[in-house]
Amino acid sequence: MKILFLDQSGKPGGAELCLIDIAKPYGDRALVGLFADGLFRKLLQQQHIPVKVLTTQAIQVRKQSNLLQSLASVGKLAPLLTQVVQIAKEYDIIYANTQKALVIGALASFLARRPLVYHLHDILSSEHFSQTNLRIAVTLANRFASLVIANSQASQTAFIQRGGNAKITELVYNGFDSQQYKTSASEVKQIRQSLGLENKFVVGHFSRLAPWKGQHILIKAISKCSPEVTVILVGDALFGEQDYVQQLHEQVREMGLENRVKFLGFREDIPQLMASCDLIAHTSISPEPFGRVIVEAMLCGRPVVAAKAGGAMELVEDGVNGFLVTPGESEELAEVINTCVAETEMIASMADHARAIACERFDMTTINQQIAELLSQRFQKPVHLPTEGN
Ligand code: UDP
Repeated sequence: MKILFLDQSGKPGGAELCLIDIAKPYGDRALVGLFADGLFRKLLQQQHIPVKVLTTQAIQVRKQSNLLQSLASVGKLAPLLTQVVQIAKEYDIIYANTQKALVIGALASFLARRPLVYHLHDILSSEHFSQTNLRIAVTLANRFASLVIANSQASQTAFIQRGGNAKITELVYNGFDSQQYKTSASEVKQIRQSLGLENKFVVGHFSRLAPWKGQHILIKAISKCSPEVTVILVGDALFGEQDYVQQLHEQVREMGLENRVKFLGFREDIPQLMASCDLIAHTSISPEPFGRVIVEAMLCGRPVVAAKAGGAMELVEDGVNGFLVTPGESEELAEVINTCVAETEMIASMADHARAIACERFDMTTINQQIAELLSQRFQKPVHLPTEGN
């Protein structure tokens, strides 16, 4: 089966990193069509995944745009659509990985007469999207998609509550290659040294810098913790949230935490950095659709505290494989951090347990097989994935 994957972003957010793992086993039978150029293209190329940037102009459909703006931008999309329709004829399926890819993918599916799969990486709620965009996403998915793959129960439920067709939706969590999350003690030592983190209790936050990801909550929380507690913020503003970045820097200055908060920007060495932390904090103040960083922390064998909402609640069982705290509550978060500082043995055994569960539950080979089976059932066509090592 040949698959044309479509993604609107040139930047590697969670949905894009997930797509790398899904597309990889298909080798030359896949093509990833991007609507913008950027680091994501390079990451696909590094993994030898065929990729083509389909437009040089970034598509301007903002999350909060209204109907008129959305329709106006559809008009501008005509050249892109023409390109996608032509390419799609060479493939068996169109696989839309983002909302704007769904818009183009739906129209292309109709024009090129190819079935459409929509991988839903979002919670379709008004916290994240305008009413118009929500309506467009659900209507297009219902009308054109044969299969909607939701990345969590939270995403699946929100889709159905908005009027999405339950019969076409399936839940598939993100898969991970647990081998990639193994780091040696010497690598950890070297990173901690280079970042000046020896003798510190390091709380890592791994996410793009955006208000709803709640980095400000973590900064507030550590002001209530002992002075050895230090934060590394790993990630950059990927979608134009520069004001928030400035606010974070100001917050750090005003609170006198310059020596305890380090901004590392976007990094590609996530497993090594996570392994160098004593605790990983997830602090989203809106429900997280899935929360890749939570699973990655577990695979690195590091304890994790997550905001109790959305997909995070499907990943973490409080007190069993991590901690859950009320979103936006910095006091509660500070309490968990202080517990972790004091109870290192208890949290180390919790993290070991979490790693064992995560390795099994989110195994990439099993999850890719699950997707292949869904595709082959829906489209009555065998999907052959290479066996491991090929
Ligand atoms: N990430 C990264 N470099 C960074 C910060 C984050 O590669 O500097 C990765 C992180 O490891 C995770 C993904 O970005 O795999 C973020 O996914 P998540 O589901 O946590 O959030 P999303 O971006 O989808 O909202």
